[in-house]
Amino acid sequence: MTSRNTAVTARATVHGYPRQGRDRELKKAVEGYWKGRVDADALRATAAGLRRTHWQDLADAGIHEVPTGDFSYYDHVLDTTVMVGAVPARHRAAVDADALDGYFAMARGTQDVAPLEMTKWFDTNYHYLVPELGPGTVFTADSAKQVQEVREALALGLTPRSVLVGPLTYLLLAKPAPGVAADFVPLTLLDRLLPVYAEVLADLRAAGAEWVQLDEPALAQDRTAAELNAAERSFRDLGSLADRPQLLIGSYFDRLGDALPVLAKAPVEGLALDFTGAASANLDALASVGGLPGKRLVAGVVDGRNIWVNDLEKSLTTLGTLLGLAGRVDVAASCSLLHVPLDAARERDLDPQILRWLSFARQKTAEVVTLAKGLTRGTGAIAAELAANRADLASRAASPITYDPVVRARAAAVTDADTRRSTPYAERAAAQRAHLGLPLLPTTTIGSFPQTGELRTARADLRAGRIGAAAYEERIAAEIGEVITFQEKAGLDVLVHGEPERNDMVQYFAEQLTGYLATRHGWVQSYGTRCVRPPILAGDISRPEPMTVRWTTYAQSLTSRPVKGMLTGPVTMLAWSFVRDDQPLGDTARQVALALRDEVGDLEANGTSVIQVDEPALRETLPLRAADRPAYLRWATEAFRLATGGVRPDTQIHTHMCYAEFGDIVGAIDDLDADVISLEAARSHMQVAHELAAHGYPREAGPGVYDIHSPRVPGADEVTGLLRKGLEAVPASRLWVNPDCGLKTRGWPEVRASLQTLVTAARTVRAELPAARAE
Ligand code: GLN
Ligand code: ZN
Repeated sequence: MTSRNTAVTARATVHGYPRQGRDRELKKAVEGYWKGRVDADALRATAAGLRRTHWQDLADAGIHEVPTGDFSYYDHVLDTTVMVGAVPARHRAAVDADALDGYFAMARGTQDVAPLEMTKWFDTNYHYLVPELGPGTVFTADSAKQVQEVREALALGLTPRSVLVGPLTYLLLAKPAPGVAADFVPLTLLDRLLPVYAEVLADLRAAGAEWVQLDEPALAQDRTAAELNAAERSFRDLGSLADRPQLLIGSYFDRLGDALPVLAKAPVEGLALDFTGAASANLDALASVGGLPGKRLVAGVVDGRNIWVNDLEKSLTTLGTLLGLAGRVDVAASCSLLHVPLDAARERDLDPQILRWLSFARQKTAEVVTLAKGLTRGTGAIAAELAANRADLASRAASPITYDPVVRARAAAVTDADTRRSTPYAERAAAQRAHLGLPLLPTTTIGSFPQTGELRTARADLRAGRIGAAAYEERIAAEIGEVITFQEKAGLDVLVHGEPERNDMVQYFAEQLTGYLATRHGWVQSYGTRCVRPPILAGDISRPEPMTVRWTTYAQSLTSRPVKGMLTGPVTMLAWSFVRDDQPLGDTARQVALALRDEVGDLEANGTSVIQVDEPALRETLPLRAADRPAYLRWATEAFRLATGGVRPDTQIHTHMCYAEFGDIVGAIDDLDADVISLEAARSHMQVAHELAAHGYPREAGPGVYDIHSPRVPGADEVTGLLRKGLEAVPASRLWVNPDCGLKTRGWPEVRASLQTLVTAARTVRAELPAARAE
């Protein structure tokens, strides 16, 4: 395609933009408001200023239609809850007294009232607040926020497109409110919810919005026929409204599958679809339903959730095909740019050549604009951009960073035997019993101990050069000493060093592995005001030196009890990073696994007999589509076994996972072949222990008996009660006693008391067991 003879006008747009601001101004203002240092008017002014700056940036870059409604003080699903009036009864009074304070009360809870539950937004690392609904829920429209933002954009002379969470996705993400039967299906409220959306749409039109986008990413998950019928019905209802703006239905994160024909037939003016990654299957699917004749297609060809530069030529080819399939084609990122950092140009510490491979929100915006220009005026109009892009992609492909022949050769030579322990579990278990000499119901913790303010200050001081490496290390050594002494006194059986040297369980390893990059300003909102800077897994992964041996062996030198080595597993290393998109994830996981395998080997060689490889993210990166899960679980479990499979039979491998819904991956948990697994279980009253038992899980397990998400110290009866419940599912010979997760977010006083209780409870329940240990 060099020039077009038929007139095409493709416009550039995005579905949303990072909210926090260049220097996380929103975070600072919101947290200042919580502390009483910033008043409500100042907070509102900061927020309005950020919206203005972001829209202006977008418009200046050449974005034709700016997104509104995507801004949020905390979370856009919570904003939707407010928009439809689904405030939980326990928060009603607070919301009525003061809308802003009530909003934050729903997000964070108060002394007396629990917040909404928080969970991950599809398979991203963004967390939303889960709507709580019941048969008694009454929806009422409150379009104030959405209308306000449309007016603000119009006042700046911009064209707004209001982007809202759609009614189906809202209901499909909701759960039964406390006190409502667990089998209540929120989607049954659709007929009550649609009139509220109708009202909001009318208000937006009255405010001057020509287009409104209803995002329905829940349709990119497997949906039942009944759910697809509900989708069809709601689009029909909303489409047939007399008083409404033009409607786009948006979807992203995966292919639409059976939902695509439903969307294509919907009586609305257009669709916004994802054509990146697994969602590129939408292209053929759209063609096979005859496209969207006469309608608008907003084509998401720039990956909105990863940070790699777009392949512009490839995107132009996709767009060229799409031109034949819709009445009008506009260009966009696949999803809101909320999931990527703001501006790669700020990264001064990165090699300038590597920097050219990266594309954050501002760069993605420019890519979208370039593509729209190329589509409209022909490739000649963007020749310089295409040439630069070709050079950047070539430099990435040819870089020694992305292709390390030694790593490649090693990964290619992995055999099935490398991914298996040398002896069957029963033999291993006997060897470990003899080697470790642990009592029945052994007690342990998950790894981290409180990350005190002093530790964080010491790390900041080290970074800023206020203290030297030696002083910092002295500080860490002292902390490890305290943690070991405490655990010995408390009577724990398998100790940990407490992870004081780790800022973050992924970043700590990323910093030491070749192939990973760190950013300075690459902040991404995780939840509310919490932002993270995910490392970038850019190249082939290798481990130049041992990463954890020093502190682990130091801790072991202080005690005769076993100290557990502590590593982050390959799947979690990928899940909490931006990962290269130029090879299958499984290949990348295998490289990380090999680096970890070396670390495991070094720990073992240096006298560590218990090694835990954490995989808290195994469940959360499960693909959205069930059809893709077996392949994912195959490479994920293989990577774990490759990391851990090389140890002697008497070395005990532990793993750990949090989040309660393990039911659907019990088989995969079994496939890890870890000798011991610790899992979050306290809040669900050991449900996971029963799930393991039902599966016939053959190895040792420690369902958590201490909920670490709250500062509450559990009572002795409570812990013994949970342990007895655990024994109903897991025999005493295979049951461990541990908290739900690491203790880094907790304070020392509650940790001391809680772990003491845990040890006492283990002793109490041990004493109730038939005398002899099961051997
Ligand atoms: N070992 C880690 C810790 O204790 C595990 C953290 C996690 O599961 N998220 O902090
Ligand atoms: Zn955990």
